Amino acid sequence: MKSFMPRIEISLSQIRDNAQVLSKLYGQKNISLMGVSKGVLGEPSIAKAMIQGGVKFIADSRIENIQKMKNAGISTRFVLLRTSLSQAESVVKNADISLNTEIETLKKLSYYAKVHNKNHQVIIMVELGDLREGVLIHDLSQFIRKTLSLPHLKIVGIGCNLACYGGIKPDDKNMHELSKVVRFLEKEFNISLEIVSGGNSANYEWCKSAQDIGKINNLRLGESILLGCETVNRKAIPSLHTLAFQLFAEVIESKKKPSLPLGEICQDAFGNVPSFQDRGMGQRVIIALGRQDILVSSLKTNNKLEILGASSDHIILDGKNLNLQIGDEVSFSLDYGGLLSAMTSPFIRKQFIN
Ligand SMILES: *Cc1c(COP(=O)(O)O)cnc(C)c1O
Repeated sequence: MKSFMPRIEISLSQIRDNAQVLSKLYGQKNISLMGVSKGVLGEPSIAKAMIQGGVKFIADSRIENIQKMKNAGISTRFVLLRTSLSQAESVVKNADISLNTEIETLKKLSYYAKVHNKNHQVIIMVELGDLREGVLIHDLSQFIRKTLSLPHLKIVGIGCNLACYGGIKPDDKNMHELSKVVRFLEKEFNISLEIVSGGNSANYEWCKSAQDIGKINNLRLGESILLGCETVNRKAIPSLHTLAFQLFAEVIESKKKPSLPLGEICQDAFGNVPSFQDRGMGQRVIIALGRQDILVSSLKTNNKLEILGASSDHIILDGKNLNLQIGDEVSFSLDYGGLLSAMTSPFIRKQFIN
């Protein structure tokens, strides 16, 4: 029987291995890991593989993904990476810990924690220059004071996030700043912060080279575990698997055609006016996969095929001399953006291999 196409093959054992290698590596520096599942839509079997590999928490940006994992029987400390006012009640009910930067949201969380007779744990995110989420250092003292006054909430940690919006690299300077902030807050408010979460997959090089990691004792890792790379230079991390995800699509047309379209060129399906190079006649292959399914720019073909272009439902490849026939499979590896879109497409079947 032929396998379903398009499909993404997911090696759970490779993901487990990656989580294990990273848990050991960071564990040597007393850094615990949150396995970040948002890139795979909170796929329960992947979260399970991460937990088997040694991550201590599962973190996701979507409460729906956390619900899905809980319903599938995954048991761990669940962390919500992105908290919104309108979801406060669901956050309290479903997440053990949430990352926060707004007092109004914390008030709502406190309110619903009381309603549901729960204690909700929060990590306060600090702005260290990347300019995505974070409380400005200047405002932090007052922010913590207000948070401490809210019943049914417990501040369990401080965190920061870099290399996401501003592309700011984690280095000794900003990591030291985070440690300094933590020491100050612990002293000022006579509290002890269990979690000091220094960042994400971009923190690898810093952590490896740092003489002194200060108070940092946690990282939140998605891409490193899933794709085996750090994210400052997108270099592979030694001993990690980088091909745990493989995408397969079906050839639906394979013909010799000219490389130059015939007739007057107007706008393409997406409003661009394309231009072409004349390379003469060549084998052109169409696969049943398109921009509705995948971030086409993220695809890397495994057999040197060249992607010529794509519309909603078709990707056109230079077939070279591979003699591809209709019904054949073409396989690709993916970067993080591609993984995200492939996992989100309802048309791509997720197939787990062990
Ligand atoms: C997505 C996300 C992460 C994980 O980032 P990776 O680069 O995949 O390791 C960590 N922290 C926050 C707040 C995130 O939103």
